[in-house]
Amino acid sequence: MRDCIKLYPSNWLYNASVIGFLKILYEKNIKKIEEEISASEKSYIEIDREIFASIDCDALYRRGNISIVGNSANYKNYIQHDWQDGFNEFVKKLAYLENVNECSFCTTGWFLPEKKKRELIDNNEYMDRFFKGIERYTMRFSSILAPSDGKFPNAFWDLNQSFRVCHLCSYLIIHHHLAFFPSDKEKGKTHQIFINAPSFKIMWYLNKFTEQLFKGKEQYSIRKMLGMSLLEFSQRIYISLGAWSIMNIEMVIKKNNVIDYYSLPYEISIILLQKDIASLITQTNEPYVLELVLDGKFDMLLNLAHMILRYIETKDEKSKLLNKIKNKDLYSLKNLAVILPELYVKINKILNKGVNI
Ligand SMILES: [Zn+2]
Repeated sequence: MRDCIKLYPSNWLYNASVIGFLKILYEKNIKKIEEEISASEKSYIEIDREIFASIDCDALYRRGNISIVGNSANYKNYIQHDWQDGFNEFVKKLAYLENVNECSFCTTGWFLPEKKKRELIDNNEYMDRFFKGIERYTMRFSSILAPSDGKFPNAFWDLNQSFRVCHLCSYLIIHHHLAFFPSDKEKGKTHQIFINAPSFKIMWYLNKFTEQLFKGKEQYSIRKMLGMSLLEFSQRIYISLGAWSIMNIEMVIKKNNVIDYYSLPYEISIILLQKDIASLITQTNEPYVLELVLDGKFDMLLNLAHMILRYIETKDEKSKLLNKIKNKDLYSLKNLAVILPELYVKINKILNKGVNI
C-alpha cells in the first residue's frame, strides 16, 4: 500500500500553495503527478511521502525561481543564507510528517515528530530559529499576505499572531506564487490570477487550461477568461460536478495591492459545464455567441439565428446583430443558423430542469 499524505482543499492561499507545489512535481516529472490528478475522483490529492526526498532543494530554492532567502520578493526572510542546508534537510524529513496537531491554515495539521525535529536542530545551529519562525504566524507570512492588504479572506485566518501553522503548510506556502499567472494588463500593471475551486482536480485543469488559452494573448476580460476555461474544462475533462462545487469556482485576482474575486453566476456556470452545450458554443467559432451566453441573453441566440436566415435569403445587412458576427461567409452563417436553435433548446432544457450535472 502507498504511504501517502492526503491534502484536502481549504482556503484559496492554501489551495494555491498546493497547486504551485504540484506544478513543481509536474515540471520535474516527479511521480507522474498529472496522471494521478487525472485519475482522482475525490476532491483531495494524495502525496507520496517519498516525493520529498526526490526534490532537488538546491536547484529549486537556491538557484531556481523560488526565492526564499533573505530579502526575497515573495517570501521575505523565509530563511537566511546560512540556513539553506538545514532547510534542505527539513524538506527531506517531511516524509515523516504526522497528523498530530491542528493547523489554522490547512485545518488538518502535519508536523514532524519531535525526534526528527530535534535531529534537525542538533545538526544545524540555525534550525531552532527556523522552526520558531515557521510554526506560528510571523512576519515571513505577512509578506506573502501583503498583496491582500491585510484582508485575508478567511474566517479562521485573521492575522492573529497566535495562530499555529503546521510544518507542511509552512513549506507548501512558498510555492503559492507559482499557481498564479499573469492576466490582463491595466495601466502597465499585470494582474495575477488563480482559479480556486473545491477540488484539486478541478483547480489543476481549470488553471492549466486558462494558462494555455491566455498566455501571451491580448487583453481578455476576467469574465471571458473564466467562461472560456469552463468551456475547455467541460469538453476535455470527464468529471461530474455537484451544485456546491459549481458555486465555489472563483477567480482570485491579485491586483496591485488588493485581492479581488470573481465568480460567474451559478446558472451560467452550469450551462458552460455541460459538455454538449460547451461543444456547440465552441463549434460556432463566434466570440459573440459566448458573450450572449455569459450575459444570460439566451433569447438573443434565436434572434440571431433568424437574422442570419433572413440575411442568407435577402443579403440585407441592416441588422445590428449581424455586425457582431465575425465569419460572414455563407458556409459559416449556415452552420451558425443550424447550431444556434439547438444551443437555445439545450440551454433551456438545462435551466428548466433546474440543474443537475
Ligand atoms: Zn497546515
